[in-house]
Amino acid sequence: MFYGQLEGTGVEILDPRFQDCIIGHARVERLWTGARWSEGPAWFPAGRYLIWSDIPNNRLLRYDDCGGNVAVFRQPSNNANGNTVDAQGRLITCEHLARRVTRTEHDGSIRVIADSYKGKRLNSPNDAVVKSDGSIWFTDPSYGILTDYEGKRAKSEIGACHVYRADPDTGEVAIVADDFDKPNGLAFSPDETFLYVADTGATHRPDGPKHIRKLSVHADGRSLGGSTIFAECTEGLFDGFRVDEDGRIWTSAGDGVHCYDPDGTLIGKIRIPEIVSNVCFGGAQLNRLFITGTTSLYSIYLAVNGANRIG
Ligand code: MG
Repeated sequence: MFYGQLEGTGVEILDPRFQDCIIGHARVERLWTGARWSEGPAWFPAGRYLIWSDIPNNRLLRYDDCGGNVAVFRQPSNNANGNTVDAQGRLITCEHLARRVTRTEHDGSIRVIADSYKGKRLNSPNDAVVKSDGSIWFTDPSYGILTDYEGKRAKSEIGACHVYRADPDTGEVAIVADDFDKPNGLAFSPDETFLYVADTGATHRPDGPKHIRKLSVHADGRSLGGSTIFAECTEGLFDGFRVDEDGRIWTSAGDGVHCYDPDGTLIGKIRIPEIVSNVCFGGAQLNRLFITGTTSLYSIYLAVNGANRIG
């Protein structure tokens, strides 16, 4: 089937290495539109569907890869933002309004994974990733408590925005990074020796950060060491992102999706006509990139595959 080029979309090759990532005749498809702010795509391989968030409309949506239809999965969603999937195929969700991270169990019930740190409520968990040991790492900026638009205006009890590690078995919640302004998207390198975390502090401070940092994971697998700035955003902000099997970063940005080689080079872009908030790999072969772009859900088939790991 031939797809004409969707207006405002296209592939931009900035480095010859990007050529190998792209299928020449593949086109960006708009799968659905009608959201206010799309975020948090998560692919469920067993059911061949994608869940994502429409944060201001207080709902989770579900794209069925078998029939192509979209339906409301959960409403109200507590202004859900980031979503991911654990090794058992369960939905992990960051909820702005309830200021917590939850897991949807196999029977459909919702279990709280983290809602506080040392007795103080979290701000508004934004994005999460599951490590191979089952721990759930998440960011906790203040976007969901700054206004009533994507949550409920409230004062921060913790007084800062950190990155956390939650152990679903013990209930332990620990700070793993405390030097971020507004930590946002996050993902591990394929071998889990590094954690990448976006900082979107520039949303509320003109000179604030708008980059992705690369933090080394200690040998214990549960704490972080030194960090470097992996990439500065050249258009808008980096929000959510994912890593492919070769370690490239496919990240949201103001003009679409930016792809970075593991060495930090911006090698190419996929232009999207709306601000992109997040991406995830899906499809039976994990070679389809799903893209949440403001009002719409987009996708494009790639010549590379998502990292074959959970989260
Ligand atoms: Mg985010």
